[in-house]
Amino acid sequence: MIDKAFTINTLQKLVQINSVNPGLVEGAPGEGEIARFIHEQLIQMGVDSRITDAAPGRPNVTAIIKGNGGGKSLMINAHTDTVGVEGMDDPFSARIENEKLYGRGSYDMKSGIAAMLAVAKSFADSKPDISGDLVLTFVADEEHESVGAAAIADEIRTDSAIVTEPTDLRLCLAHRGFSIHKITVHGKTAHGGNHMLGVDANVKMGLLLNEIAEFAKHLPVQNRHPLCGEGSMHVPLIEGGRSLFIYSHKCTIHTERRTLPGETQKAVETDLRNLIANVKKKDPEFRADLEDVLWRSPYEISPDKDIVKAATSAAESVLGKVPETIGHTWWEDSAIFGEAGMETMILGAKGGGIHEDIEWVEIGSVIELAEILYRTTLDYCS
Ligand SMILES: [Zn+2]
Repeated sequence: MIDKAFTINTLQKLVQINSVNPGLVEGAPGEGEIARFIHEQLIQMGVDSRITDAAPGRPNVTAIIKGNGGGKSLMINAHTDTVGVEGMDDPFSARIENEKLYGRGSYDMKSGIAAMLAVAKSFADSKPDISGDLVLTFVADEEHESVGAAAIADEIRTDSAIVTEPTDLRLCLAHRGFSIHKITVHGKTAHGGNHMLGVDANVKMGLLLNEIAEFAKHLPVQNRHPLCGEGSMHVPLIEGGRSLFIYSHKCTIHTERRTLPGETQKAVETDLRNLIANVKKKDPEFRADLEDVLWRSPYEISPDKDIVKAATSAAESVLGKVPETIGHTWWEDSAIFGEAGMETMILGAKGGGIHEDIEWVEIGSVIELAEILYRTTLDYCS
């Protein structure tokens, strides 16, 4: 049984700790204090816990509840960092109103941390028999470079994993990935009055932007994924030229392509090379370089996997109905665990306002989440 008062109280304390990611907001405190708080809670329960640095000053907390041997092992995971608080009135108050708890990270995803600590407490209080190990990981830096999850994936190998990112108590079985590229279009610098000498890189980039716009328009009607919908592409950054009265020698863009499960880095790059080639066909003077900046894989898990079946029946027994399955259009740490060989799904609390000025979580859903995670563990690790 889940200790409701403990869960709510713990969630409040977690939200009251500022754990804004210093990679996103200069000078922000990061995960040190919240990691120590989680570690101390676990130690007080008598659960085996340790803190390790994923990078200098970026701690992960790992706790293990040992099984009797022979069963399948499960990792439950949450990230401890949050995005910034600019624009928020009372980001760390953790005030409760109408069964909702407000504040930065309440939903994304201290709700998951609180539920996981409640699961640890249930194991510590009633010591149920499990065969496989339950591993709880609380990682740094998901909102920026995911150094925390990467360090865990290097070190820990469980059969399955549940990431407790918000899903409104639905089972998230797939999410999109993303690919960032930098494209530089070259021009020729000249005095603004010397049109016979200059080649305008900014205007040339316009030709490529047109191709990108056409390509992006057709992505939604190409291959759709049943849970994630369509792929997409946009240009979040553009920079070109030196000053007024000078022909622009160089214009650069960053492209952001959101990919569907099954799409590869190579295919995304080929698409971009084709767009550049299309412009060249129309304008032989066009010159552009393409560079890889960042790739994050899309992810999907089959609904036939044991962990999904265990979570489905646990959710059904707690919620009184078969939970809906969904896909997320954004990327999550689950892809890192999945690529490392752990069968990973996502299941988290209900709320709203992710990365927005008003963020909240429905308290009842955090209790339900804890209960579902507890029952899933008993079933899966038995
Ligand atoms: Zn998150």
